[in-house]
Amino acid sequence: MIADALPALAEAAATVAGPGHRTVATLGGNLCLDTRCVFYNQSEWWRRANDFCLKHGGDVCHVAPQGKRCHAAFSGDLAPVLLVLDATVEIVGPAGARQLPLAELYLDDGARHLSLAPGEIVAAARIPAQPASAHTGYRKARARGAIDFPLVGVAAQVVMNGGRLGALRIALTGTNARPFLLDGTQAFVGAAVTDETLTQLGKLVQKQVSPMRTTVTHSYYRRQVAAVLVQRLVRELAAEPAASARGTSG
Ligand code: SF4
Repeated sequence: MIADALPALAEAAATVAGPGHRTVATLGGNLCLDTRCVFYNQSEWWRRANDFCLKHGGDVCHVAPQGKRCHAAFSGDLAPVLLVLDATVEIVGPAGARQLPLAELYLDDGARHLSLAPGEIVAAARIPAQPASAHTGYRKARARGAIDFPLVGVAAQVVMNGGRLGALRIALTGTNARPFLLDGTQAFVGAAVTDETLTQLGKLVQKQVSPMRTTVTHSYYRRQVAAVLVQRLVRELAAEPAASARGTSG
């Protein structure tokens, strides 16, 4: 049913980890995935040998030693798709239930990236009806072809109107401490999807992603890949035939 109604969400879910993980995993678990860093996702003795780090037990961030915040990257695959779909999440806990826009679940701090209070969990995600002519997709770059976190993951939703962009929403994961909606895409409404438009869009992406030395892959590479994935995905979605609308993915 999800695959028919929201194929981009199904597509992103199919890229999460491996079949065994997906069998027991939940959407809420993926939304609440801990942030990742090569200095943190190590054994206890390895981290102790490094005097730990700001995220847990230490005083220094080994990625940005002059700073006082953690830059570990959020790497969940489902959040960017749900962000472009304008989802809200239902949170339940000792104080009852509450709803909030998905974007407000996240904080821009790798050591405390969720706005959940103690004892709260994400119980459900609610997705509003999508524009009938919307085309939505997800693309992921990873070091291994399977069972791997995204170095960069991008979701986009495109609505075409008379051969020009009628609406554009883009969200990213894997580059910052939180998944985020790209600011400034409204400026592209009315533009044709040309090489020049995509060049400008790529520049916008590069300004807002902030990959740090939290993976074995170079930050500069991840910044470039983020822009290229967005450009390719928007081009593909814009070219999809109108008849395949209602949240299709390329
Ligand atoms: Fe630790 Fe810095 Fe990595 Fe955060 S970004 S996990 S503080 S080394």
